[in-house]
Amino acid sequence: MPNTAAAQRACPFCEIIRGASEVSLCYEDATALAFMDIQPVRAGHVLVVPRAHYERVDDLPRAVGLHLYDVATRLIPVIQQVSGTRDMNIVVNSGAGAGQDVFHFHVHLIPRAAGDGFDVPLPFPGSEMPDRTRLDAMAARIISAMRDPVAHATPAAAPS
Ligand SMILES: [Zn+2]
Repeated sequence: MPNTAAAQRACPFCEIIRGASEVSLCYEDATALAFMDIQPVRAGHVLVVPRAHYERVDDLPRAVGLHLYDVATRLIPVIQQVSGTRDMNIVVNSGAGAGQDVFHFHVHLIPRAAGDGFDVPLPFPGSEMPDRTRLDAMAARIISAMRDPVAHATPAAAPS
């Protein structure tokens, strides 16, 4: 959904940012806020969210993305301290095909412990290991696209 007034009205995170719904805030500044996930993997599971409505990772202005990561790196040691674990997953689901559920960009900071039952299964057990020539070919395509400002443009939305 594009960054429209209609998208923002329908967005649960914009509702929180407008002050129209309940939230357990743990950080805020002019650009970002962070609050407790309402269905945490573990106590201390925090979402870092831009105040402005951006849907996907490629919608974020680079400065906003860098700021969100900066906020995350400041929160992580605090979450580790209060949740009593050093192990963390930092997760972004961008797009429905990647499991995004709320279409306002957010970064999950998830404190973890062995045996908690959550998993981000990487390496993915369902995939094979391609030979080196295929890895090299994809690396070369990425290098080439980064040199070409046209190829580097955001891909068009998939037809729906
Ligand atoms: Zn929103």
